Amino acid sequence: MNTNAIYRKLAEKDKKFLWHPFTQMQDYVAAAPIIIERGEGIKLQDVQGRSYYDGVSSIWLNVHGHCVPDIDRAIIEQLGRIAHSTLLGLSSVPAIHLAEKLVSIAPDGLCKVFYSDSGSEAVEIGIKIAYQYWQLKGEPSRSSFIAMTNAYHGDTIGATSVGGIDLFHETYHDLMFAVHRVPYPHAYRYDGTIEQCTNHCLNRLRMLLDMKQREIAGLIVEPMVQGAAGMIMMPPGFMAQLRSICDEHNILLLADEVATGVGRTGRWFACDHDGISPDIMMMAKGLTGGYLPLAATLTTEDVYNAFLGDYSERKTFFHGHSYTGNQLGCAAALANLKLIEDTRLVESVSEKSQLLHDLLEPLRDHPNVGDIRKLGMMTGIELVRDKAGKEAFDWDEKIGIQVCIRSTELGMILRPLGNVIIFMPPLASTVADLTAMTKILQQAIGDVLPS
Ligand SMILES: *Cc1c(COP(=O)(O)O)cnc(C)c1O
Repeated sequence: MNTNAIYRKLAEKDKKFLWHPFTQMQDYVAAAPIIIERGEGIKLQDVQGRSYYDGVSSIWLNVHGHCVPDIDRAIIEQLGRIAHSTLLGLSSVPAIHLAEKLVSIAPDGLCKVFYSDSGSEAVEIGIKIAYQYWQLKGEPSRSSFIAMTNAYHGDTIGATSVGGIDLFHETYHDLMFAVHRVPYPHAYRYDGTIEQCTNHCLNRLRMLLDMKQREIAGLIVEPMVQGAAGMIMMPPGFMAQLRSICDEHNILLLADEVATGVGRTGRWFACDHDGISPDIMMMAKGLTGGYLPLAATLTTEDVYNAFLGDYSERKTFFHGHSYTGNQLGCAAALANLKLIEDTRLVESVSEKSQLLHDLLEPLRDHPNVGDIRKLGMMTGIELVRDKAGKEAFDWDEKIGIQVCIRSTELGMILRPLGNVIIFMPPLASTVADLTAMTKILQQAIGDVLPS
């Protein structure tokens, strides 16, 4: 069979058997799917031999590119020993080494590692630990959570409950537990200065805590960057303020570093920008370099100690998944982290971030580019109908989708969030890669929205 015949067969079966995530299948089956067969460096290759830059790191996961010899080798070597054994009451070699490593790179004070398989699960675990913590501490009235507007913490029911994106979450309203909502600082959409925006958000949080302190278990937040909300960025110092407000009111701070962790923002963790430590921290996406599903929830000694007690006291954390701490995943993560250190990748992200800023500069003059938000390798370009009035395109105009379709035709995979074009190249992208990718980005926007 030639490649076209192979493609047609696969496309037919794709449409017949698969249900794709976050995808309107009616549109999907009407179009010609891209079917990826290989990866090489930061490019993906489809079954017809076309290649594309992986402009969103395969949904924010990829670190060193694809088919990385060191990670491949680590997985193969682990496979030669064992693929998986349970962590329920047993331990495993790579799970131990990885836990030690994660504690060494995590913000100070986080010293216990609980594994799971996805960011959503890491969040569920964080929520359940925080909830049970207060029961064990003899303050069971502290049973509710504060979450931020536009938050995204994953798609399971608990993670959805703390999420705040109506388009994704509203449908499940009756299934979710209630949370208190406070505003995340969104300078571009706030009518006032950054300082006023910051004060507004912090005051709302303080007011809520003054009234409800004794009912609150913790505050969950995406530090520095709200990814799925459209790359909304906190002003510097905001996380430090959240940390001190949580301390003043004696509530737990849960940092969802699923997207921002492992170097994506130019620091190991986004919390490091303000030099703060949360009580509970979730990480997932970049953990295995984009290879295998593995996530972790880290806690302080204080949180961990609350769960210790005589067996009969029932203080155990009764939670775990079949594949918790999968050995192949842990081996991949160890190789990923070692390679990050050997190549000084976190420092280089911080350096390349400045270059990326300059490369995106010409886009600022485009009449439909309202805002460019960037931290490390996380970028959001918000498209607007009218720059001065910041008027949004209607959702069903699909402007973001159109730009990403055009970008794919030009050789780079992108995926929008509404009117925000997300550009999140793998951390290992070189200066030449970034230059080529931003050119495509600029052309795709210009072709859909000629100025
Ligand atoms: C992606 C994401 C999640 C969910 O992670 P999954 O692995 O997709 O379940 C949670 N929080 C944040 C901030 C994310 O970006």
